Amino acid sequence: MFKDSFLRTSEVKQNNNASDFSVLEKDESFNNRGAREGISSGTLDKEFLRDRSEENLEMLRGVGEDARFLKGFYKEIIDKYPELSCVELKDAPELKFRSSQSKGTRDDLHLSIKYNFSSPLEAYSAPKKNEKLEESECTFAEDYVENLKILEKRLSAKEGDVTQNGRLASALVFLHEMGHAYDFLHNYLKVKPEEFREGVEIKRISEAIKQVARETKRDKASLPVPEFLEDGVQERESRQKYLEEYRNMRREKFADEFACKFILEKIADRNTRT
Ligand SMILES: [Zn+2]
Repeated sequence: MFKDSFLRTSEVKQNNNASDFSVLEKDESFNNRGAREGISSGTLDKEFLRDRSEENLEMLRGVGEDARFLKGFYKEIIDKYPELSCVELKDAPELKFRSSQSKGTRDDLHLSIKYNFSSPLEAYSAPKKNEKLEESECTFAEDYVENLKILEKRLSAKEGDVTQNGRLASALVFLHEMGHAYDFLHNYLKVKPEEFREGVEIKRISEAIKQVARETKRDKASLPVPEFLEDGVQERESRQKYLEEYRNMRREKFADEFACKFILEKIADRNTRT
């Protein structure tokens, strides 16, 4: 249903209640222009929450043609969630079937997302059956497709709606990473809009980052060890199970729901306007 025109569908609108996105409802106070004004007001002498949107847009202007789509998308995201303009976007052409979000190092604290913005959007759909892949890419590609299928389910979309639609797939992958940043700001740092205006102590931020590192370890440790990790055999079935469990970890689920909620709201918005 997404295939022909990105996001133009009435079916998904009817399915809107299929997922529970209540996890995103708290801290709505963040969604105001004040946060954005705070970021750019200069009251923050620390780098962490600096507004990076201009340099991000500059970077997006400089990469491939298809980045124009993501540029428009990025503008919509930071318009809705101004606090996310503190996230640095890094073009990583070496990344295929992968993307990542990080908090920086102890000396260089800032949120960043590594993503292959130079890639044609088509490359974000599942590889075609006859598409030749480097051997090193195969496992990443398989995992990538599994992850897209999980997103398909979370969106209550039909099979192929995401895997066959490079634009939607790229948007979802990008939004997923933004979801991690949002989660970090709201649920780990618990930054309030006033703090954007007054400045946040860097010490508290680095403490929060350490806390996330600890929780990440615990999250991973609490997962049952998939067979392929024990014996080194990358068996398809156990990988699939591992991916599904990984994707159900609190923080991954949060990032997915952030992404799906954004897309579904965009669809609902379009449907009411057309
Ligand atoms: Zn993730």
